[in-house]
Amino acid sequence: ENKQTKESNQTAAPAPIITVTEVKANVSMPEAAQKASQTGADGVGLLRTEHMMLTSGVHPKKFILDNNEEELIKILMENIIKVADVFYPKPVWYRTLDAPTDEFQTLEGGEDEPHEHNPMLGWRGIRRELDEPEILKAEFKAVKRLHEKGYTNIGIMLPLVQHPNELKKAKELAEEIGFIPHKDVDFGIMVETPAAALIIEDFIEVGLDFVSFGTNDLTQYTLAVDRNNELVAKNYTEEHPAILKLIKRVIEKCNEAGVTTSICGQAGSMPHIVEKLIEYGITSVSANTDAVETVRKTVARSEQKLVLKAARKSLKE
Ligand code: PEP
Ligand code: MG
Repeated sequence: ENKQTKESNQTAAPAPIITVTEVKANVSMPEAAQKASQTGADGVGLLRTEHMMLTSGVHPKKFILDNNEEELIKILMENIIKVADVFYPKPVWYRTLDAPTDEFQTLEGGEDEPHEHNPMLGWRGIRRELDEPEILKAEFKAVKRLHEKGYTNIGIMLPLVQHPNELKKAKELAEEIGFIPHKDVDFGIMVETPAAALIIEDFIEVGLDFVSFGTNDLTQYTLAVDRNNELVAKNYTEEHPAILKLIKRVIEKCNEAGVTTSICGQAGSMPHIVEKLIEYGITSVSANTDAVETVRKTVARSEQKLVLKAARKSLKE
């Protein structure tokens, strides 16, 4: 009798909250993939590469200079597979390298990194990768080989694009190694420059499977506020109407064209902003692992509100 009482007192696992909008997790360290997946996340909306290279201790360009592309591909594959495997078959968006020049100077081979006056506005993201296409190609090859092993859930996301030509060139490089964007692999960009947001339709014309808002950078570039400068931290807010306006226009254009939209900046972990994004019609949200559960609840509540609003409106008509 006692035993039965005890058992009935046990709390059952709560029923999972179902949302139409996907709620994903950001992963910076592949070792944290398991924990991210335990949140019930619908995939990984941002898998960063920088930590993979930091733990290797070697600057990616050194592998290329040493004629050792294979080793770079191997390191990338070993890291990406940790995430792709835990999440399979849910999508994992691998973001190609985006390290400002001041971040990799301590790595082997990083001693001769240029010292830039303003690394955040400098040689990083897709602009650098197009100047050093061998690294980008190695990244594409790593993802391609993982696809060949069955990890077809991995997509490719380009950071810091500001002109459709960058997307075009990156796609050409993927094709050069026999990996065809859209056909073989989901291919998308981060929207983290006002330029990309203002002419998103031109990117759509080049061809995109998805976009993801990098609001950490989009905020600093739209407001001209260095995201790492405490003196101007009070001027840094993702809720600035100009940023919300940019995001809204991108979501509208993407929805018209059937392009998936997501967010992977910090704003995606902030419930009050997520609520707005759901209203704008975003199709997925990616949050920090420790915020996934809260964001899921916010998404569910926001979706219910919208449905109720629409139902009431149609009753009146
Ligand atoms: C962003 O800019 O919002 C983003 C997610 O990229 P990172 O923080 O790595 O620059
Ligand atoms: Mg960024």
